[in-house]
Amino acid sequence: MADSMRAFVIKKVGETGVVEKPIPEPGPEEAIVRTTAALICTSDVHTVKGALPVPDGRTLGHESVGVIEKLGSAVAGFEVGQRVAVCAVTPCYRCHYCQRGYTSQCGGPLGGYKYTVQMDGNMAEYFVVPAAFANLTPIPDDLTDAQAVYTCDMLTTGFMGAEHAYLNFGDTVAVFAQGPVGLSATMGANLMGAGRIIAVESRPERQTLAKRFGADDIVDFSQGDPVDQIMDMTGGEGVDAAIEAFGFPQTFEACLRVTKAGAGCRTSATTARTRHRCSCRSTRSGSG
Ligand SMILES: [Zn+2]
Ligand SMILES: [Zn+2]
Repeated sequence: MADSMRAFVIKKVGETGVVEKPIPEPGPEEAIVRTTAALICTSDVHTVKGALPVPDGRTLGHESVGVIEKLGSAVAGFEVGQRVAVCAVTPCYRCHYCQRGYTSQCGGPLGGYKYTVQMDGNMAEYFVVPAAFANLTPIPDDLTDAQAVYTCDMLTTGFMGAEHAYLNFGDTVAVFAQGPVGLSATMGANLMGAGRIIAVESRPERQTLAKRFGADDIVDFSQGDPVDQIMDMTGGEGVDAAIEAFGFPQTFEACLRVTKAGAGCRTSATTARTRHRCSCRSTRSGSG
């Protein structure tokens, strides 16, 4: 094994490149994974544009799968050579936040989002997995790496939006935007027993995918105010839960406006990386 590897880094705000870096060694609780597939996320694009303060030269990426290359001395239950997926969020599972279930907030607000923000990301030939005893997920043999890599952020972020909507069977759910995360939220709401899913989307190919993944109705926001359309479709009552998968203040507001009065003040607004108590059932699912 050579001792250097290629890594895709932010050279400075607005500039990226591939550089050579030393192949990392694992600490006692870490693993080193050899990358076999990776996805670029909107968050990488935002980071390159300067939205997150990261040092120049930091490796980008937080959506990678691969093969375990090395295991730290304290990591049990996994084997070198095993195919694994690693979530974009890699919490410690020990701190107060993690133990209360707020793993995205590990150590403090947004603290679970470590790749690129707190350490080198995983768009490199090898990457470190912190708290590897809890952050390695074996990939079943019948899934390809290219399939599994979608679980690292897009699927999990969308599913978490649906989980945090705390649906009851038969609930009516609106999902704002049907990009990869919104489509995953639609899929998640369907799996969690939603009775009616209203997908807000204007692009025809995404409308088709939304229906394939469980949407019952499509609201095309280019054809009129989506809030008015949803209120009309629900007899003026609104929905039991709304999931925000676009990332703009206007869509957050639209979620609040379409959510039924008194629709369970017991849930949270969320991304896979954020989880805040909220007084309504609109949930944020991130823009992945
Ligand atoms: Zn991502
Ligand atoms: Zn933690």
